[in-house]
Amino acid sequence: MKYVILGASAAGINAAKTIRELDPNGEITIVSKDKAIYSRCMLHHVISQGRQPREINFAEENFFEKYNINWLAGQEVLGLNTEEKTVLLTGDLKISYDRLLIATGSSSFIPPIKNLAAAKQIFGLRNIEDAVAVNLAAENTGAAVVIGAGLIGMDAAYALADRGLEVTVIETAEHILPLQLDKTAAQKYEKLFRQNAVNFFFKETTVEIKLDQDNNVRGVVLQSGAFVHCGLVIVAAGVRSNIEFLKNTNVKIGRGIQVNSYQETSVPNIYAAGDVCESTETFTGQVSLTPIWPSAILQGRTAGSNMAAIPRQLEINFAFKNSMTFYGLHTISFGLTGQADSDSKELIYQDAGNYKKIIFKDGVIKGAILQGDISNSGLIGKLVQDKTKISHPEQIFNMTYANFFAQKENGEFCFACNDNCH
Ligand SMILES: Cc1cc2nc3c(=O)[nH]c(=O)nc-3n(C[C@H](O)[C@H](O)[C@H](O)COP(=O)(O)OP(=O)(O)OC[C@H]3O[C@@H](n4cnc5c(N)ncnc54)[C@H](O)[C@@H]3O)c2cc1C
Repeated sequence: MKYVILGASAAGINAAKTIRELDPNGEITIVSKDKAIYSRCMLHHVISQGRQPREINFAEENFFEKYNINWLAGQEVLGLNTEEKTVLLTGDLKISYDRLLIATGSSSFIPPIKNLAAAKQIFGLRNIEDAVAVNLAAENTGAAVVIGAGLIGMDAAYALADRGLEVTVIETAEHILPLQLDKTAAQKYEKLFRQNAVNFFFKETTVEIKLDQDNNVRGVVLQSGAFVHCGLVIVAAGVRSNIEFLKNTNVKIGRGIQVNSYQETSVPNIYAAGDVCESTETFTGQVSLTPIWPSAILQGRTAGSNMAAIPRQLEINFAFKNSMTFYGLHTISFGLTGQADSDSKELIYQDAGNYKKIIFKDGVIKGAILQGDISNSGLIGKLVQDKTKISHPEQIFNMTYANFFAQKENGEFCFACNDNCH
């Protein structure tokens, strides 16, 4: 069996490992634009100079030899012929497959801002090359602007501030991390960032990059007319699935490649996993992109198993499950985190160092934010995932795993099922 995997990151590497575990003799080839294996979640450590690029590798040193995998590194996939079952690479190279996994992830979305294309010191933050380039640019300026206050934007702001730059974050929402946090939790972080030379503009958009005659960045102009002086700009305004090479194929696409719970696409023998695809999200029950690292790993493993003919369905698939730590303050959020609707009930606990919010609907937890003390996050996550009915929501902040254990008739202990909650 000839397996070809496009992409050498969370989804692709985990799929390859799974295939090799299940099929010791199959021929596995990974193709990637990436020339190194690294965790994108750790790119900000390269910017803050806390780690060298080689120190963010997430696979074993000898991964490809150990698992007997052929890696075509630094190769771009340009096209796919589903009739011929071939993939077209740079330099007119064609490789054939019996089973194909598309795990090409996503790229930074670059919004249409005046002068952005011409500017020299504008960067997305997606690849190791971006982090290395930001590093170089940061040596020649004392001020940076970050467009977008999502997780990637705040990672970038944190790293740049850490190495002594004055940073300004521009965000269209009214607070940072709008997909992960509510205003209260976000403002705790905002205060810490401000104490560390990070400034913010909320409900603002960037309309123009000001350049000198050599196209060096000199600042940004906001919609309000405000001008922010800077020598480099990081654009963290969302991502788009890498699917250009699927043009003219019959692989069905929505916001990403459409897959079923086996990670199968609309074309037989072609699978997709990770940021590149859209799938049913566990918290919301809706089909969406799930662009987080743990989901890419699980989807990759699921795809790998099915490619090796061991049927496996994706059981848990989160887009909205995030953990973060800035300036020593830990937060974990699950599912809905914003304003609860009129049918939902919100329970809040707050003291000097902690903020906890749980949103209930129809007796089950729909979302949670735990900030400060996150020790109960394992339990809350399990309750959310299992849609466990909670009979006494008002006691949620005092509950432990012990509250949810039941004993079966045979004496065995089990995590409480929905009918047996106490
Ligand atoms: C700065 C940053 C911070 C993040 N922080 C977190 C975090 O804290 N927590 C979290 O859960 N998630 C985080 N994420 C998201 C997480 O990194 C992604 O969800 C994850 O990397 C997705 O993995 P993937 O395998 O689907 O795709 P990717 O990691 O995007 O990898 C795609 C692979 O496909 C290759 N490729 C793409 N196009 C082609 C082509 N045409 N031809 C050949 N190869 C191609 C690439 O070279 C790469 O090897 C972060 C992302 C970034 C960028």
